[in-house]
Amino acid sequence: MKIGILPCQGTSNTGVMTTKAAMHFVGKDDVGMVCPLGLPLGIEGIIKQALSNDAHIALNGCPIKCASKALQSIGVTDFDEMTLTSDFNIQKNKDFSDETGLFEVIEALGKTISNIQANQH
Ligand code: SF4
Repeated sequence: MKIGILPCQGTSNTGVMTTKAAMHFVGKDDVGMVCPLGLPLGIEGIIKQALSNDAHIALNGCPIKCASKALQSIGVTDFDEMTLTSDFNIQKNKDFSDETGLFEVIEALGKTISNIQANQH
């Protein structure tokens, strides 16, 4: 079961934290990361890599949900998603070093990965 995480990688504390949270899991247990921007831009190799995953998790820094929209832009509609502002009550700001709430995001992401892997069997 290959899982692709899409961090929105936005220019805010919450956007940056999507990447920080993903980094805790990529490279282990068939969990990888997808460049979300490559999908709506139509970058063939990135789309191919994304579609090679069996499941996806979109990590959005805010309700604009760029990571989820990137997946939808290539026709992927069945995926898990998290939004750091609304799901974890984290205030979005421009302090890129602000990691308030990051632990909770990592914990929830780990549970989502485990659930996906458990449902596979
Ligand atoms: S979801 Fe929000 S934080 Fe992330 S890239 Fe989009 S606008 Fe920026």
